[in-house]
Amino acid sequence: MTTPLVRAQALYRTYRVGSHEIRALQGVDLEVEKGSFVLIRGRSGSGKTTLLNCLGALDVPTGGRIWVGGREITDLSERERTLFRRFQVGFVFQSFALLPTLSAAENVEVMLRLAGVGAGERRARVQECLEMVGLSEHARHRPYELSGGQQQRVAIARALALNPPLILADEPTGELDSASAAEIWRLLRHLVDEQGRTVILASHDPAALAYVDEVYELVDGRLLRPEKSFRQSRDT
Ligand code: ADP
Ligand code: MG
Repeated sequence: MTTPLVRAQALYRTYRVGSHEIRALQGVDLEVEKGSFVLIRGRSGSGKTTLLNCLGALDVPTGGRIWVGGREITDLSERERTLFRRFQVGFVFQSFALLPTLSAAENVEVMLRLAGVGAGERRARVQECLEMVGLSEHARHRPYELSGGQQQRVAIARALALNPPLILADEPTGELDSASAAEIWRLLRHLVDEQGRTVILASHDPAALAYVDEVYELVDGRLLRPEKSFRQSRDT
C-alpha cells in the first residue's frame, strides 16, 4: 500500500457571514493515490470549490488536517504556503484567469519568472508546456485570439510550468462547448497516464465521468463514498 499523494482528515470549513454560519465542509475525509484522476461532483453550493481551495492551500480549513506528498500543509506558515502552492500544485479555473495583454507563451512564462527560473530555461520550458497541450503553433497569440478551449489549454500549460505533481481543476469546462470540453478531459487524462500526475477535478459535467478513475459526490459539505472505481480494470 503506497502513501496517498493527498490525504484529508475530518475537514471542516465554516464561513461566518455576519451572525450567520455557513458550513461549506462538514467532516470530509479523502485519500487520493498518486497518478489517479479523481472527480468531485455535486450541485452548486455543495462545497467543491471550498474543498479544492483547501487542498491547494488557497484556503485554510476551520478544522481537520491535510497532507500532500506526506507533508502536512494545514500547519504551514504563510510563506511556506506560498511556496507549496507555487511548486506542488497547478491550478486550473473555470474562467482560465489568463492575463489578457500577454501572449500564450508569456502567460506560461509568468509562473517561471515568479519562481526565478533563468531566461534560457524559461524559453525551453514554455515551449515544452505549450507542446504538451498542443499549442506550440499559438505561442504568440493573445487570449482574445484563441478559442475558449485553447485558452483553457494555455491555462493548463501554465499550471504545468513548474512541474507540480498535483493538478486541481475547478469546473475547467464550465465555459466551454462539449467538443472543447472533451479535449480538456482527454488532456487531463493524458497528463495522468503519461506523466503520472494526479488530478483532482471538481465538475458537474457528466461527460467527465468517462475519463476519471474515481468519483466522489459532495452533498452539503459531506463527501459520499466513491461511486465508481475502474482503476483496476484499467490496470489489468
Ligand atoms: P461549489 O463549488 O460546490 O458550488 P462552494 O465551495 O463555492 O461550492 O460553496 C459552498 C458553500 O459555501 C456555499 O453555500 C457558498 O455560498 C458558501 N461560500 C463559499 N465561499 C464563501 C465565502 N467566501 N464566504 C461565505 N460563504 C461562502
Ligand atoms: Mg465551485
